[in-house]
Amino acid sequence: TTNLRISGLTKSFGGVRALDGVDLTVPAGQVHALLGHNGAGKSTLIKCLGGAYPPDAGTIEVGGTSYTRLTPRESIASGVAIIFQTLSVVDALTVAENIFLGQEWTRHGRIDRRAQEEVAAGLLERVAAKCSPRDRVGDLPMGQRQLVEIAKALSRSAAVLVLDEPTAALSGAETDALAERVEDLRTQGLAIVYVTHLLGEVERLADAVTVLRDGRVAHHATVPGQTRRELVEAIAGRPAEVARK
Ligand code: ADP
Ligand code: MG
Ligand code: MG
Repeated sequence: TTNLRISGLTKSFGGVRALDGVDLTVPAGQVHALLGHNGAGKSTLIKCLGGAYPPDAGTIEVGGTSYTRLTPRESIASGVAIIFQTLSVVDALTVAENIFLGQEWTRHGRIDRRAQEEVAAGLLERVAAKCSPRDRVGDLPMGQRQLVEIAKALSRSAAVLVLDEPTAALSGAETDALAERVEDLRTQGLAIVYVTHLLGEVERLADAVTVLRDGRVAHHATVPGQTRRELVEAIAGRPAEVARK
């Protein structure tokens, strides 16, 4: 099944065409690497997907529904979770409080703290986090904070996970751990959009690659149409599009 299908996505800011007819399809259980130099349109695509910007044209089909104007609420409700480079977790709150922030109340009343901690513990286990539900997030290393944010997304039954340069602030060991988590989440059936500048990460994780240039798809490749190695070699010949500027 296809969890995410973006078709003809177009968005201008004044005279600048940030996105110009972009197509991107991510089936459940696949990691789609999104590359492109600064200004190529990656963040604009992510923000349209999150409902932050209304596109000028095109459709975003997610969770079986096609939207021309997706609101932030509809984006979350249809299963999109975006992990931005600047994390949204709150340092002063515990891990469990962060995971349930904004979800403390159900039709049946306030969720009991103990119950929250139990559910949080299960979610932390699912992402193989080493922290515990009562830890204060501000005391945790970056890699653990990021896993808390992914656990929060899973608590909302995310089906499409967007990671924006997720290893930029991580140590080598944290980067390896994250790659394992991404592999687990793929196996669990999430559709993952993975924004990166690093070919090593593409080679390790990607089932498909889209390279954006000036708001258009400059290159697209998929495994098993090619091996991961071939996929990387195909885009490595395009250093100007891949390199961080
Ligand atoms: P990337 O994330 O790939 O670096 P962006 O999506 O941030 O690219 O930017 C694509 C283009 O759109 C750039 O030319 C950028 O200057 C422009 N742009 C992005 N957001 C805005 C905005 N809010 N207002 C005006 N121009 C914008
Ligand atoms: Mg960037
Ligand atoms: Mg950006």
